[in-house]
Amino acid sequence: MGRRDISKSLDEFANAKLATLEQQSLLRRLSETERLSAVDVLRDGKRLISFSCNDYLNLTQHPDIKAAAIAATEQYGTGSGASRLVTGNHPLYGKLERKLADLKRTEDACVFGSGYLANTGIIPALIGVNDMVAVDELSHACIYAGSRLSAGVVHVFRHNDLDHLREILDTNRGKHRHAMIVTDRVFSMDGDLAPVEDLSRIADEFDAWLMTDDAHGIGVVGGGDQGAVPLQMGTLSKAIGGYGGYLCASRPVIDLIRTRCRTLIYSTGLPPGVVAAAIAAIDLIRSDPEYAALPLQKARAFTEALGLAQAESPIVPIIMGSTDRTLEASRLLQDEGFLVIAIRPPTVPEETARLRVTFSAAHEDADIARLVDIIKTKILAPS
Ligand SMILES: *Cc1c(COP(=O)(O)O)cnc(C)c1O
Repeated sequence: MGRRDISKSLDEFANAKLATLEQQSLLRRLSETERLSAVDVLRDGKRLISFSCNDYLNLTQHPDIKAAAIAATEQYGTGSGASRLVTGNHPLYGKLERKLADLKRTEDACVFGSGYLANTGIIPALIGVNDMVAVDELSHACIYAGSRLSAGVVHVFRHNDLDHLREILDTNRGKHRHAMIVTDRVFSMDGDLAPVEDLSRIADEFDAWLMTDDAHGIGVVGGGDQGAVPLQMGTLSKAIGGYGGYLCASRPVIDLIRTRCRTLIYSTGLPPGVVAAAIAAIDLIRSDPEYAALPLQKARAFTEALGLAQAESPIVPIIMGSTDRTLEASRLLQDEGFLVIAIRPPTVPEETARLRVTFSAAHEDADIARLVDIIKTKILAPS
């Protein structure tokens, strides 16, 4: 076959896949979105109040944090130039890692290129052929990716179901040398919390290593400094307002990760400006706990007004079930000036498509009240 025919078969393959996804309302498209202020975005030419950003503390727009990023860029340049293990380990890394370890009350910390890179690096670095991983079924996609990249056997336990986890460990723990339990601490699409103390007890009982992913907790949901959890990972890309992932753990674990973790070794270090922004953000969060408490307070005002179960984090799902109904609800809100993205399978299980509403410190109470009113009258109880 000539080159022409091969590229034709590739395009045919892509077009057929796209047509199927379109038919199932599962086709995803990128929409250019410009952040205009703490909560306003410009999307498809329309100004909207965003209830979809993970920028819970609006720190991506904070003047002091921007200034820190600019100053570091001026001093050290726009990129780190190499892997951290080569020449990319600029002086800001050590400073950030000490701050993270201090925040999480662990001996040490390691910063990665992103949360996704952290999970896809940490799990394979610790779990080998004779080992097993138990993952909560609603864990983030990169926890699954990291578990599958490891050479261990992967078991999935029902969401927050301690009996099911125990059953899996009862049956399987004896067959393996090491075992790891991995879960989101704040579930990214549901906003509920993992029962960390119970998980920690089960981990001890079965000699398993517990890792919690605090991507949506750090900075905004208290109790994230879980001294009893030996592996505490998370991201700098949400409430911290920048980019990057981290692991907080004991010194020997961090030393091992620094020498064996492939996504750390074979990927370029973060730009200095990004690391400087994270340092400034953590300082700001620690200096103003009242401000950091606002997103959860606003989420709770919202769940109370709608008669939903009390929010445990700044993430509130409104589960619609059908993908088409969810897309329609999202479009309706857009017409009313709100950006609330529809979340569809495979990001969430089949038949659980939902609106995912996230709250930030800067959301106005009046805008939340208007959002509640529209959801109440036009989405949950349409006439
Ligand atoms: C967003 C998210 C990640 C990925 O972090 P990035 O820094 O965006 O790559 C990992 N885990 C959870 C639970 C997340 O929500």
